[in-house]
Amino acid sequence: QAKDMGRHTYRFFKPAMNEKAVERLSIEADLRRALEREELELHYQPKIDLTTGLTCGAEALIRWNHPTRGWIPPAQFIPIAEDCRLILPIGEWVLGEACRQAQRWAEAGLWFGTMAVNVSAVQFCELNFAQRVFAILSQAGMDPKRLELELTESVLMKGTESTAPNLQTLRSEGVQMALDDFGTGYSSLSYLERFPVDCLKIDQSFIRQISAVGAKSTLVTTIINMAHTLKLRVVAEGVETKEELQFIKNRGCDEGQGYYFSRPLPSSVFTQRLLLSNSV
Ligand code: C2E
Ligand code: MG
Ligand code: MG
Ligand code: MG
Repeated sequence: QAKDMGRHTYRFFKPAMNEKAVERLSIEADLRRALEREELELHYQPKIDLTTGLTCGAEALIRWNHPTRGWIPPAQFIPIAEDCRLILPIGEWVLGEACRQAQRWAEAGLWFGTMAVNVSAVQFCELNFAQRVFAILSQAGMDPKRLELELTESVLMKGTESTAPNLQTLRSEGVQMALDDFGTGYSSLSYLERFPVDCLKIDQSFIRQISAVGAKSTLVTTIINMAHTLKLRVVAEGVETKEELQFIKNRGCDEGQGYYFSRPLPSSVFTQRLLLSNSV
C-alpha cells in the first residue's frame, strides 16, 4: 500500500517538476536572445501628484514580447533573469532606454517629473552599480535629479558591503531612491535608518479595497505619517478606485499610481497623454 502510494506520488510529481524545469530552461535560453532580437520593451505608468492632479513622474515597466509565447509578464521572467544573472545586461538596457526616453520627452518640452526605474537586488549589489548609473545618465544627457531608482526591501536585507556606499553615492548626485512594495518585507523601519531613501511606495495590497475602518486603513495612515515624520515622500501603488484615491488623498499621501489614473502605457501613448495634459 505504502509502496503504491509512493509510486503514485512519484508519478504525480516527477513529470510536473520536469516540465517546470524544462520550461524554465527554455525561457532562460530565449531570454539570452531577447535583448539582441529587440523583444524587450518598456511601458510607462504615470505617477500623479495628488495635490495638483498632474502627472509628476513615470515608472518604467519591462515587457517581453516572446516570438511564440506572446507577452510574458515580468513576474515570470525577472526572477529567472536574476538567477542566471541575465538581469545585469537586461537591467542595464532598461536603465538606458528609460533615460533616453525621459530625455526625449524633456527635449520635446513635455515635462514629466522623474523617471522611475526598478532595480533588482542582483544589480544593486554590484560593486560599481552607482558608476554604471552615472555613465548611463551622462550618455543619455539626463539630469540625475530626474532619475528615481526603485529598490525593494530585499536589497536592503541582503545588504552587502557595497549597498550603503552605492546608495550614498547615488543620492549625493541627486538620484532619488525609493523603497518599493513597502510593508511587504521585514522590519522595514530599522533598514530606513541604515539605508536612507527619499521615497516610500506603499504596496498595492494595502491600498486594495481600503475602507475608513479596519486594519488596512490604520496601517496606511501610520505609514504615511511615519514617512512624513522622516521627511520622505509617499506614493500609493495600485490605486484602482475613486474611494481608494479619496482615502489616500485625505490622509496626505503625496502621489498615487494605479489603474484608476492609467495602466502602464507604450511610450507613444504616454507621449499623447503628456501632449494633452502636461505641455509647458
Ligand atoms: P512594481 O515595481 O511594484 O510595479 C507595479 C506593478 O503593479 C506593475 O506590474 C504594474 O503594472 C502593476 N499595477 C500598477 N497599477 C496597478 C493597479 O492599479 N492594479 C493592479 N492590480 N496592478 C497595478 P508589472 O508591470 O507586471 O510588474 C511587476 C513587477 O515586476 C514590478 O513590481 C517590479 O517588481 C518588476 N519589474 C517590472 N519591470 C522591471 C524592470 O525593468 N526591472 C526589474 N528589476 N523589475 C521589474
Ligand atoms: Mg516599482
Ligand atoms: Mg511595487
Ligand atoms: Mg511589486
